[in-house]
Amino acid sequence: MLAGLAWPVELRTHPRARRLRLVLDEHRGLLRLTVPRRVTRSAALDWARRQSNWVEAQLARIEPAEPLVAGATIPFDGGEVLLCWNDAAPRTPRLFDAVLTCGGPPERFSDRIAGWLRDEARRRLVEETRALTASSGISDAPVSVGDAGTRWGSCSASGAIRYNWRLILAPPAVRAYVVAHEVAHRVHMNHGAGFHALQAELYDGDVGEARLALRRIGPRLKRVGRG
Ligand SMILES: [Zn+2]
Repeated sequence: MLAGLAWPVELRTHPRARRLRLVLDEHRGLLRLTVPRRVTRSAALDWARRQSNWVEAQLARIEPAEPLVAGATIPFDGGEVLLCWNDAAPRTPRLFDAVLTCGGPPERFSDRIAGWLRDEARRRLVEETRALTASSGISDAPVSVGDAGTRWGSCSASGAIRYNWRLILAPPAVRAYVVAHEVAHRVHMNHGAGFHALQAELYDGDVGEARLALRRIGPRLKRVGRG
């Protein structure tokens, strides 16, 4: 596995290849990297690492969207949750025993589930951010959630933190890494050495592992609620 890429890379030197080429092999679940003879292995891997956005886009394209429909199973907070519609249940979704149930008009089912997930994301992320700022002595930040495209979180110049609501679908340890990252930006508005030191201090775990885990599960999280 190459740091920065979600899939393992198989490297092949090809005497007649004229340029570097990366191909997603869906069936074998790996990336094939073709390397011309004159290019070194480390230069080739550096180049491949810089294609991570392309790899993510390819993965999102080949794998189907996961709409929030009754009967679907979605990732949630490190586990899986079954979505269930029940005529007799209240309109407000309720989570019990890994089953998220709601009633009301079936045509609004997806909207109600999506709303509940966003509310839950906001509630937890506000709580987790507060807990971290309080324990580290960093001043409190306004927190909001949205669907920030390809980003998992952002911290504005004014110090406001915005998270992608899909983080509620991720395991708590992965979410905690994004929280530590954004809280560290409250002190350092860059990705310099001071920032990385603070991020490592704020995160209770291995930052590199958490970042890789997010890259690996990210494409799936982004498919949930689409289509
Ligand atoms: Zn950052």
